Amino acid sequence: MAWSADRARCIFSNSLNESTLHVSPGVPPGNGAGLDDGRAGIRLLLNAARRTGLPLRSTLDDLITTLFPSDCRVCGDSLLRSTILPICDSCRVAVPAQTMAMCHCCGEALDMESARFAGQFPAEGLLCYVCRVLPPMFERAVAYAVYQDEIREMIHLLKYERMGGVAKLLGGFLAESILTLQAEAARELIVVAVPLFPAKQRQRGYNQAQLLADVAIAKLRRLAPDWRLQRLSGVLLRRRDTRSQFELNPRSRRKNLEGAFAVDAANFPIGCEVLLIDDIYTSGATARECARVLRRDGAHKVWVATLARAQYVRVAMWDSDSMHAAQGFG
Ligand SMILES: [Zn+2]
Ligand SMILES: [Zn+2]
Repeated sequence: MAWSADRARCIFSNSLNESTLHVSPGVPPGNGAGLDDGRAGIRLLLNAARRTGLPLRSTLDDLITTLFPSDCRVCGDSLLRSTILPICDSCRVAVPAQTMAMCHCCGEALDMESARFAGQFPAEGLLCYVCRVLPPMFERAVAYAVYQDEIREMIHLLKYERMGGVAKLLGGFLAESILTLQAEAARELIVVAVPLFPAKQRQRGYNQAQLLADVAIAKLRRLAPDWRLQRLSGVLLRRRDTRSQFELNPRSRRKNLEGAFAVDAANFPIGCEVLLIDDIYTSGATARECARVLRRDGAHKVWVATLARAQYVRVAMWDSDSMHAAQGFG
């Protein structure tokens, strides 16, 4: 039978969640003329879709991944089974949670010797230089992992390769991170995902922070059934597009975000506690700015949870670089 876009669409179903097609050991993936013909047909269609930029592309990507085992998109090793999510078992479990000494407020990795030298002790709650000099408007920011290695690749797949299914895995990590806030935060939290500029969200097809938040909330309903987390859409708005924070120095990051966010006051429950969700905490400038406008417009407290956090080599807190960085934060 000839392969067509309609046929491909019929085969593909959104209900295919993490379903697997096991491959017998020793049998090469796609063995057999029929499968080879099918694969060639799909690949032709996929190439055509890529040239034209049709939305068919992501559907066929998922379809091929499901039917024909490929390589792990994170480490490149061959997958022994085919799944919607082309990430091997090793990479799925190779994302360690952060365990180093961290600033109690923003989660920056701390040099313990420098902290002792500065007269801070764990019982007091360690704070980094930036949080002591310019306290943010949020209570605490937690992040599951350091932004590096496997999780860095997975976030890249989620944001730039249209692999929304990765959120199912990553949202579970995020839930573990959010759980560390349970003792301090209110019993009812309004969950707000950091918004994308509308044009960027249309281009990407989704807001990755929203996907992560929804998966995490679903998991937390099982882990902490008494904790009421409700995600609200549209309360935090992105008024203009901004450059990636990674491209900028600390001073430019604050400038980049000036006026970028606004709260829709008509839909915002005054006096609530907010849990702000994002995929990456880079310098903290985005979290600080979002927390500032949320507090200004009525939030009682803001908590922040991200999947991953950039931890810089600059862990000696009292040097001139840190001073300079502190001046760049907003
Ligand atoms: Zn892998
Ligand atoms: Zn800090």
